[in-house]
Amino acid sequence: MRKNVQNLLTVVVFATAALLASLPGSVLAKTVAEQVPSPSSDDVVYATAHGKRYHRKDCRYAKDASPMSRKDAEAKGLTPCKVCKP
Ligand SMILES: [Zn+2]
Repeated sequence: MRKNVQNLLTVVVFATAALLASLPGSVLAKTVAEQVPSPSSDDVVYATAHGKRYHRKDCRYAKDASPMSRKDAEAKGLTPCKVCKP
């Protein structure tokens, strides 16, 4: 009889531990996801080293382009591509 009680306690302890282990994890993941701002795709443009235009990532002229912020591209005097209209 005493052994059965011990088994029951063990099951309860394990179940509680599993519950506690799952709860903080999900709360933590949610907090981290809320704290890390995902950069808006509107703010990233792609420009080649010697080009005068900046592009969207999928533009056919942006093959060798590097990502940069739209602010940086405009600060360098680059203008939006007429094809992809970033
Ligand atoms: Zn383009």
